[in-house]
Amino acid sequence: MDFKEIIRVIPDFPVEGISFKDITTLLKDGEKYRQAIDELKARVSHLNIDVIAGPEARGFVVGAPLAYALGVGFVPIRKSGKLPYDTIEAGYDLEYGKDKLAVHTDAILPGQNVLIADDLLATGGTISTAVNLVQKLGGNVVGAAFLIELEQLEGRKKLPGVEVVSLLSYE
Ligand code: IMP
Repeated sequence: MDFKEIIRVIPDFPVEGISFKDITTLLKDGEKYRQAIDELKARVSHLNIDVIAGPEARGFVVGAPLAYALGVGFVPIRKSGKLPYDTIEAGYDLEYGKDKLAVHTDAILPGQNVLIADDLLATGGTISTAVNLVQKLGGNVVGAAFLIELEQLEGRKKLPGVEVVSLLSYE
C-alpha cells in the first residue's frame, strides 16, 4: 500500500520553509489507519518488545494502537508539567523550536525492552530525547517506529544501535 497518496503536504507550515506532512488525512480513514498500524506491527514484531513509549501528541496516535495490536503496554512521554506523578525531564531542539519532555519515574522498569513510536522522524531531536529518558529509567531501547521519515535530515544518525522502522520516506 502506498500511504504517500493519503498524506497531505502543507508548504510553509508552521513556519516558512517547512513542508509539513499532515497525517490527519490518513488517521481519518479507518481502513488506511489500520493498514498503517498493521504494517508497522509486522515490521517490529521480531523485536522482543515489553512496552511502547510515544511522545505527545502524535506519538500517541501511532504508539497506542501499535501497543494494543502487540498486546504490550503504552507509556506516554509528555511535555513538561503535564504528568501528575514524579517525573524525569529532558530538553531538546525541534526542527522548528525548543521543548522539554517528561516521563513518570515508574513508567519503565529497569531491563524492559522499549519500542519508541512517533508519527515522523525529522532531525531526530524528539526521539533521541525520548531514548534518553527511557535509558535514564534503565529501559533498553530496542527500536523506533515511525509513519514517516524525512531522510535528508538524517535523524537516524542520532539513534545509533536502535533499529529504525518507517513506512514512508521523503527527501
Ligand atoms: P524531530 O525532533 O526534528 O525529529 O521532529 C519530529 C517531531 O516533530 C515529531 O514529534 C513530529 O510530530 C514533529 N514534526 C516535525 N515535522 C513534522 C511534519 O512535517 N509533520 C508532522 N510532524 C512533524
